[in-house]
Amino acid sequence: MQLEILSQSDSNTLNGLIQAARNIVVCCHKSPDGDAIGSSLAWAEYLRQVGKEPLIIVPDAFPDFLRWLPGVERVMRYDKHTAVCNARIAEADLIFCLDFNATNRVDDMQQALEAATAQRVVFDHHLNPQIDARLLVSLPQMSSTCEIVFCIVWQLGGFEMFSRQAAIAVYCGMMTDTGGFTYNSTRPEIYVIIGHLLTKGFDKDKIYRNVYNNYSSWAIRFRGYLMSQKLNVLNELNASYFCITRQDMKNFHFVKGDAEGLVNEPLRIKGQKLVISLREDTDKDNLILVSLRSVDDFPCNEVAERFFNGGGHLNASGGKLFCSMDEAERIVRDAIMAYADRLRA
Ligand code: 5GP
Ligand code: MN
Repeated sequence: MQLEILSQSDSNTLNGLIQAARNIVVCCHKSPDGDAIGSSLAWAEYLRQVGKEPLIIVPDAFPDFLRWLPGVERVMRYDKHTAVCNARIAEADLIFCLDFNATNRVDDMQQALEAATAQRVVFDHHLNPQIDARLLVSLPQMSSTCEIVFCIVWQLGGFEMFSRQAAIAVYCGMMTDTGGFTYNSTRPEIYVIIGHLLTKGFDKDKIYRNVYNNYSSWAIRFRGYLMSQKLNVLNELNASYFCITRQDMKNFHFVKGDAEGLVNEPLRIKGQKLVISLREDTDKDNLILVSLRSVDDFPCNEVAERFFNGGGHLNASGGKLFCSMDEAERIVRDAIMAYADRLRA
């Protein structure tokens, strides 16, 4: 099976850029998920293999359920160490942008990234890449950026030297971006890659438990409360939504990560095609974070773009609204109604 994804000329370009670089930064999107962190860790390991000393910078905190990942202690947070990160980004001659397609996906780091004089390389699987880059590897058909990183390391001959830790990082990102291989996960190459990764000797079932069976008792109660008390199911439209207020979060001792994956839960209702979750930001007033999930060919990214200032993948998207929760709820209802015919079908 064909795992090589770079043309010979792109492969030469990438090798040349890496060889010539003295200061390398690897960065990913804000609120980094398993794929963003996993791909950054794995790619940074490859760069170390070839004698480089990359710095991984993430815009902000990553969730507790990723803290076990080997090597995360080396990752630098932009929001915590802004001055150091700005200096490292400014002096970088090569910046790898992993798992994002537009510079506004790095939040407060956007200005530093745009002002940087470094050559940029993008590895990403989101649609519509908008980053000006010396080398753009944009493959929306891939399950994850981790899969892209694997294929590139494989193609460049780095997999034999790859450590178990790096294989774990790749596996984690492929697993989380496919919801434990339940969506975007039918391409056979994925399982060939997993076969190779497992030769490094790790327990993939433990990775599943580390990520998905890692709730605090408060977080489990929070999920139960939301599904029982806050879920609005529009039965005839095969759609549902729920709204999480600051008060809800306070009542259940919310910490970052507790809402992760929650939006998938109502998709388990028979026939459900679209789920939207709204959550008040914990800090900023009138900022509502929106997550959307859909199944089959229903394009939740189109809904995210039209109604929620966002975008994403066909079946998993996000966005934000700058209004009260009441107003946001009206927008959700309007959005669902706008797609009523397709949802009913
Ligand atoms: P989540 O619901 O997990 O926050 O986001 C799901 C997916 O939607 C993410 O993988 C990301 O690709 C995409 N996404 C989330 N927020 C935004 C946004 O504001 N803009 C765009 N273009 N994509 C987003
Ligand atoms: Mn991803």
